Amino acid sequence: MSAKLPYQKVKIRYKDFEHDKKYKKYKNHYGICNEGKKEDEIWIDKNSDKSLKQLILRHELVHVRRQREGVNKTGQREEDETELEALSRTPIKYLTQGEEIIHKYLRNKNKLSPNKREDLKEIYKRIKRLLEFKN
Ligand SMILES: [Zn+2]
Repeated sequence: MSAKLPYQKVKIRYKDFEHDKKYKKYKNHYGICNEGKKEDEIWIDKNSDKSLKQLILRHELVHVRRQREGVNKTGQREEDETELEALSRTPIKYLTQGEEIIHKYLRNKNKLSPNKREDLKEIYKRIKRLLEFKN
């Protein structure tokens, strides 16, 4: 199993969730995975700004990575862990100030790389600490 995001396994498509009636049911979403005939597409709302699209793309890729690893979580916990891993993987130039602080904490000031298995385990310890702090 890989700690890397499965860029090669998915097709990335930009759809108009806001205005195209075909995608009406996704109106309140930023992105969605497992779409298309082969369920190998990620759809991203084209109305989101450029930086947000970078985070959405990684968020959906993290869902796919976790599914391929057999992570069996649902609901808010799945969303929270996925979003924090995505934050750790998104370059700082695409993040807001608040997100940047979380990115640096999760990466331990860049000593940890989410693409390395051992480092990703450490990042997940930090993700769990953050989520326990929240609850
Ligand atoms: Zn999600």
